[in-house]
Amino acid sequence: MNKVTYSASAQEKILADHEILDRFYGHLPPEPRRTPMRELISTVLSHRTTHADEELAYDRMLEAFGDWAGVLAAPTAELAHAIRTTRWPDTQAPRIQEILRRIQAETGGQFDLDFLADWPTEKGMEWLTDMPGIGLKTASLLLLFNYHKPVLPVDTHVHRVAQRVGFLGPKVSVEKAHSVLLALLPADAEALFNFHKHNYWHGQQICFFLKPNCGRCPLKGFCNYYLEHYGAATAEALAATPTVWDAAAWGKLPH
Ligand code: SF4
Repeated sequence: MNKVTYSASAQEKILADHEILDRFYGHLPPEPRRTPMRELISTVLSHRTTHADEELAYDRMLEAFGDWAGVLAAPTAELAHAIRTTRWPDTQAPRIQEILRRIQAETGGQFDLDFLADWPTEKGMEWLTDMPGIGLKTASLLLLFNYHKPVLPVDTHVHRVAQRVGFLGPKVSVEKAHSVLLALLPADAEALFNFHKHNYWHGQQICFFLKPNCGRCPLKGFCNYYLEHYGAATAEALAATPTVWDAAAWGKLPH
């Protein structure tokens, strides 16, 4: 790739980011984080809730009611009690039951989302985001991770890196960024999976909200934030920048 500069276009910057971080963090085969049903329902439970409390709510719910049919048939107040470690159990309990009802209606009785594999991406996105408590990020994660559809989940980490490097405008919301960034990337599920994972890790491990670790960052040669705070990267600074994640020194990357 030609050397990308601070004044490069959004398209040039995002492709350079994609290529450099693919090398830095390593290329990954696309794989789901968890089963489709768990991905969907856990996301509802995770709203403003710690991961540990979300897992506790999920486990208690299935222990109390056995399976999805049991969760759907449960008195809503009892379901709210079972998921009480989530932030708003009284809101989430009826949402979960409504989601289960819609899945059952779509499949003719099964609690299974695999019909999404055969649906056009747009139709799947519309169906998912029409459900209570399911936004663009969750729908995109499910369709990309579990069904290899060419969509891009954008969370706060991906959003922050994109704005700092400068391939996303400073006023573009996280919601809007889903379509803006997707239009700049190859329409390929494996590439989008890697772009998402790498930029998520980058925001979480290097480009922190407070005090980004720019010394360690391989994007400094074209990052607007770096230019504004430190001036153009010198040849010495670029030469001293690691080109791969050093797990022995900095720790293993999370799943
Ligand atoms: S140079 Fe700094 S601000 Fe820019 S992407 Fe890297 S860590 Fe973030």
